[in-house]
This record gives sequence, C-alpha cells and structure tokens, in this order.
Amino acid sequence: MNSSSTPAWFTQGLGHIWLPYAQMKTMAAPLPVVRTYGSRLVLADGRELVDGVASWWTACHGYNHPRIAQALRQQLDTLPHVMFGGLAHEPAFELARRLTELLGPGLDRVFYSDSGSVAVEVAMKMAVQYWLNQGERGRSHFLVFKGGYHGDTFGTMAVCDPEEGMHTLFQGLLAQHHCADLPRDDDSFAGLDAFLAQNSHQFAGILVEPLVQGAGGMLLHEPQVLRRLRTLADRYQLPLIFDEIFTGFGRTGSMFAFEQAGVRPDIITLSKALTGGTLPLAATVASSHIFNAFWSDDTAHALMHGPTFMANAMACTTALASLDLFEAEPRLEQAAAVSRALVAGLAPCKDLDWVRDVRVLGAIGVVELKQLADKERLRQRFVQAGVWVRPFGTTVYLTPALNISIEDLHTLTEAVVGVLRAERP
Ligand SMILES: *Cc1c(COP(=O)(O)O)cnc(C)c1O
Repeated sequence: MNSSSTPAWFTQGLGHIWLPYAQMKTMAAPLPVVRTYGSRLVLADGRELVDGVASWWTACHGYNHPRIAQALRQQLDTLPHVMFGGLAHEPAFELARRLTELLGPGLDRVFYSDSGSVAVEVAMKMAVQYWLNQGERGRSHFLVFKGGYHGDTFGTMAVCDPEEGMHTLFQGLLAQHHCADLPRDDDSFAGLDAFLAQNSHQFAGILVEPLVQGAGGMLLHEPQVLRRLRTLADRYQLPLIFDEIFTGFGRTGSMFAFEQAGVRPDIITLSKALTGGTLPLAATVASSHIFNAFWSDDTAHALMHGPTFMANAMACTTALASLDLFEAEPRLEQAAAVSRALVAGLAPCKDLDWVRDVRVLGAIGVVELKQLADKERLRQRFVQAGVWVRPFGTTVYLTPALNISIEDLHTLTEAVVGVLRAERP
C-alpha cells in the first residue's frame, strides 16, 4: 500500500487501537478495508481481495446481502433496541420460535447474549445450576476435549484445550476441568466410560464442538464420536452441550453439525453465522429437561444472567433475514458445491512435501503444514495473489461464504496451491 492511498483515519487511529491476538510491536499493519460486497473486500488503495475467511466464518451469505440490509434498515427505523428485562419485542420472540423449530424437538428455550464466549458461559451456568436447583452440590467440573476452543473469557478459557490456550499464562485463575481425548475408537470410549463410572458425580456436563474443532486447529472427527458422547451423557445423566458456534448454519454441509450424527444435545450454543455476519448475536438453546430444573416457585432457582444488549432487535431481525435466506436460496446445495470444489481445488496440496494433511468437511477446507515458521510472510503472499487467507497455527484454511461464486472459489484454491508451492521451505 503506498502512503498516498493510506486513509487519514488509519494513520491517525493506528496509535490508539489494540488489535486481537497480535503482538502490536512487531505485527504487520492491518489492511484498511473501505467496502465489502459478495465475497470481496475492497481495500483503501482500490485492490480487491477474494475473502477466504468470511470474517471468521460469520458472513455465510457473503457481505451486504440486500435482504439482510433491507430488514436491518426497517428495524432501525421502528425499534433498534430496548432492554430485554421486562420488555418483549417481535424479532426476539419470532427468532426464538424459528430457531427452536429449526433445531427440532427437544431444544426449545432460547436465551440470548451478544457473543459466542458468553453463550458458552451461559450454557455452563445452566448446566451447573441445573444440578444446584435439584439440590445436588459439588458438580462444578466439565468434561471437555483436547483440541477444543470455546472462547476467550475466563470461564471459557478454562474449557479450551490447555495446550492450545492461555492456561499457563493464567494459571491459578482458571477453573479446573477435565480435558480428555475425544473417544475416536472403542478403546478410548471404554477408557472414558471407566473414568466417568468413578468420577461422574464431579461433573456438571460434557462440552464439545461437534464434527469440527475450529479455532483449536480445524480438527475433524467422525459422527460416531458424538454418538459415543451421547451414550456416555445418557449413562451418567450429564447434560451434553454442543458448541455449534463455528459449525452451525450450514458450515459443515448440514444446517447443524449434530444432524449428521443423528444425536441431539441437551444445550446448544449458536453465534458466528447466526446473523449472517452483520451484527453480533448469540443464543444458548436448552431442552425442556434442562429448563424444567429452573421452573419453580423459588426465585433462587431462576437463571441469573442478562447481558445488557441481549436480544438486540436489529441483530434478531438480521438473524431472521438470514434464516429466510437459508429457505429462499439453495444455501445447503451451494455449500455442497463449495465442498466439492474445495476437495478438487486443494487436492494438489497433497503432493507438496511440507503438507501434512488436506481435509475438507462441508464448506471448510484445511491444509495442515508440517511446520509454519512465518505466517505473516504467507499472509502477504496471499494478499499479493488477491485473496484474504489468514493462516493460524500450522494450518491454512478456507471458510468462504456458502454462496461464493465458483470463479472466486477457484481463485482461492489456486492461490493456496500456488503460494504453498512457491513458499515451501
Ligand atoms: C468463535 C467461537 C467461540 C467464541 O465466540 P466469540 O463470539 O468470539 O466470543 C466459541 N466457540 C466456538 C466453537 C467458536 O468458534
């Protein structure tokens, strides 16, 4: 970017902004974006990048979808936001009805919040209090899994994989949970079963990202793993929480990942693509079985949580528009087409000797490298190739809009293959 095209807001603000997951001193400057449309980011210097990340997987219909924009404008003019304590509004109630209809029988109470981490915290709080309300104390631990990621708050950091997360840094401040290997085979299942037979009384619930562990490394597992967890949850009567914040809304090829396993959670968390990437919103949806433990004449049995901006009317309206789009447009067929194109387009990476693994599930394409010393250099090469791809850990991944054009998708996979070929050590 040459300095004449660097906007004044960028230069003047850069000394005052604190960016995510970044060593501010040594990081490369972020790219100023001035406009978005479809699967494209338009930079201040006029360059256009094909977006391979869809803004952390949120923009499932691409950017600036007219249907979402129109719904948002209307809501802005009539009722942008009111507090949710004691007041009700149509978008929140309608969205709760539509979400529970979509999730199918059993998951039927929606609690709103404004970020994924908080949705997970609420799910954890529900599970812990589910036991307390029934007079059972001492169940404060969660069974969680290696490779898992559930958020950045103190509560959720503690349920992330300790190897990946910030456990060493915040040692002593984080709650202790039990982090196990996913039961990928009969032996590990038997091991977990034996462990729970001894220790299940300490646990409030089981928490897992179904089919794909996202930010922990884009690790995939078979649907069978979820059926085993359902079996264990039933055997030891532990609430099973599926964190579908990454996987929800078509990303894995089905509307929700759990559908592919044919088992249902007791609590599910949703966010990321819930509003089609336009506004922050999250939901924790509980089964009536969980909810009934709170249904009481005792006010102390109420769920004591209430984010200020929960159920923001504009966010709920965009979520409704997003659900409309899943009905009006062939989004899941498009996701299947994206999936096929990712398989074909990324296949040449398998021949590169610094590639460990190439894997695709739904509209998620992952190239895992044996080592990746200089992520920043790779990112710059991608920008030069006209794409926005942001490697993390040792993975290069694509999670584009589900309705990305086949040409744009081709540009993305060509860039990944080309850059990884040129940059191999
Ligand atoms: C992104 C993510 C979260 C955290 O969501 P935030 O909105 O960033 O707080 C939690 N769980 C999963 C699976 C995620 O992908």
